[in-house]
Amino acid sequence: MIADSALQTHLAALRACERCPQMQKPVVVGRAMASRILLVGQAPGDKEPQLGRPFAWTAGKTLFKWFAASLGWSEAEVRERIYFAAVCRCFPGKNPKGGDRVPATDEIGNCSHWLKREFELLRPTLVLPVGKLAITQFLPVAPLKDIIGQSFSINYRGHRADCVPLPHPSGASTWHRMEPGKTLLEQALRLVANRPEVKISVSS
Ligand code: SF4
Repeated sequence: MIADSALQTHLAALRACERCPQMQKPVVVGRAMASRILLVGQAPGDKEPQLGRPFAWTAGKTLFKWFAASLGWSEAEVRERIYFAAVCRCFPGKNPKGGDRVPATDEIGNCSHWLKREFELLRPTLVLPVGKLAITQFLPVAPLKDIIGQSFSINYRGHRADCVPLPHPSGASTWHRMEPGKTLLEQALRLVANRPEVKISVSS
């Protein structure tokens, strides 16, 4: 496993990133956890920069509820055992038509530099992209019903891993609360719970 100092150095550089002029600061990063499980969110909302951690607000409450039910882990345990990355690490701002602005292609490209570095440092064996924007960084575009509940072998920039996509836990989405989403989500969380990385995290 990698030295904490390498991760700390990475996160310090990430916090200082100013590649995207339209993105709002501060950069939101998770803890320097040397985990083989990499969770990839989409982009922080407006509350996460104030609270200083990814998934700090309503979507996070649902996400941690999913993990509590499937893995039996508290929020603190999830944050200690899974490395939290994202497609973009800064709040993109509000969309004038409502909701948060979707990051632009160049911003996603800019921020993929950090994700690539995390693959190099952590060499994750299990990747959990959360929400469509995150999922499409690893898998071809497809309806959620065709990919949630399954595990895929991926190769991200030369790094092989298994990928279990999850829907976005946003309150605005009803997909995960209605069939077939509900059953497919349970299936996906069962796949995660049965992974060796999860069992190793508990015993280490
Ligand atoms: S979104 Fe990513 S690449 Fe863009 S400024 Fe924030 S940390 Fe840097």
